Amino acid sequence: MTNAINIAVLPGDGIGNEVTPAALAVAAAALEATGGPPLAQREVHAGAQCYLDTGTPLSDEAKAACEAADAIYLGAMGLPSVRTADGTEIAPQLDLRFMFELYAGVRPTRAIPGVPTPLSDPRAADIDFAIIRESTEGLFAARGKGVVEDDEVARDTQVITRRVTEKVSRFAFAEARRRAARGRTGSPTVTLVDKANVFTSFAFMRRVFDEVARAHEDVAAEHVYVDASTLRFVGAPWTFDVIVTENMFGDILSDLAAGLVGGMGYAPSADIGDTHAVFQPAHGSAPDIMGTGRANPTAAILSAGMMLAWLGDKHGLDPLVEAAALVEAAVDAAFADGSLRTCELGGSAGTRDVTDAVLAALAAGPAPTRRQSNASSTV
Ligand code: ATP
Repeated sequence: MTNAINIAVLPGDGIGNEVTPAALAVAAAALEATGGPPLAQREVHAGAQCYLDTGTPLSDEAKAACEAADAIYLGAMGLPSVRTADGTEIAPQLDLRFMFELYAGVRPTRAIPGVPTPLSDPRAADIDFAIIRESTEGLFAARGKGVVEDDEVARDTQVITRRVTEKVSRFAFAEARRRAARGRTGSPTVTLVDKANVFTSFAFMRRVFDEVARAHEDVAAEHVYVDASTLRFVGAPWTFDVIVTENMFGDILSDLAAGLVGGMGYAPSADIGDTHAVFQPAHGSAPDIMGTGRANPTAAILSAGMMLAWLGDKHGLDPLVEAAALVEAAVDAAFADGSLRTCELGGSAGTRDVTDAVLAALAAGPAPTRRQSNASSTV
């Protein structure tokens, strides 16, 4: 990666096509501001519409383009009306996770100043944690393998392996150390969310997690049952630092977390493996608002920031890490005075308004009292 950063861009379906250009425009502007290399984008057709058009949601050519890229940026995929024979949705973004073993699904959750949260407690302004959702096994390992016997019994089997549990646990502890190094927490802590009191697979996951924890004694480790964790998500989410959990639990808790900080339009994500990574807003294709111009691009923009941070850390390129920090600071500046209100929060600010506000904040340069970058804390 000497001249340009090669990004495979998969806008996908629905509002994925609307928020992706916004995110990449902001990323390009941030790179220009820091003197970083430009983004060379290769657009790749994939998703439910691609399945309707071509008979495959993710062609071999598309897979090869993703494999060859420095990073993969994805908008959103799937349309409720486009399903496989067993009734499940077309979801090539899940295939990418399995293909490149993207075991660490990183979901930063941060209260953006000026964006209302549903919690009345003033400490909600301090919400700043990261969910690490294991993304290649757990209950999702059953995807495509579930069985229905005699139209009477259906089975999907959860899989937890030592190898992946060790990897994702190590990732979570490393994330806690990074966050502490950047001043985001005074007491780095990894919380394992499981159901070890009931299921053998979770008891095993906890045992492996504890082994990894013993090798990271500078970081506190704790366990919370998934049901109890939902109470804490609502009652005291500011007490979380890094959460690591199984795939299905992470899927559900990520949406709960997004709801704490404004909704799906504010929830960025990255799926990270040892060699590849996919960056995408945590939301889906939102067919109910596609084509209306109302999609909030903030999650997509912050995901692009995470991509810059990951590339910068991976390749030792400071301008990319700095650009990631600028993206997040520009988002904060755009929302700071509370007047930019998106549709999930009852406002009328749409894709264009938010993008313009973030680009304007970037052009205006850094404000003196910005909080530290979330994006740069996540590699
Ligand atoms: P998936 O299963 O593909 O993750 P989902 O069923 O969780 O998708 P989403 O597509 O994420 O559904 O949408 C859930 C709700 O949130 C919808 O009402 C949608 O309009 C809204 N929503 C999602 N993303 C955004 C966004 N960026 N801006 C505004 N509203 C959004």
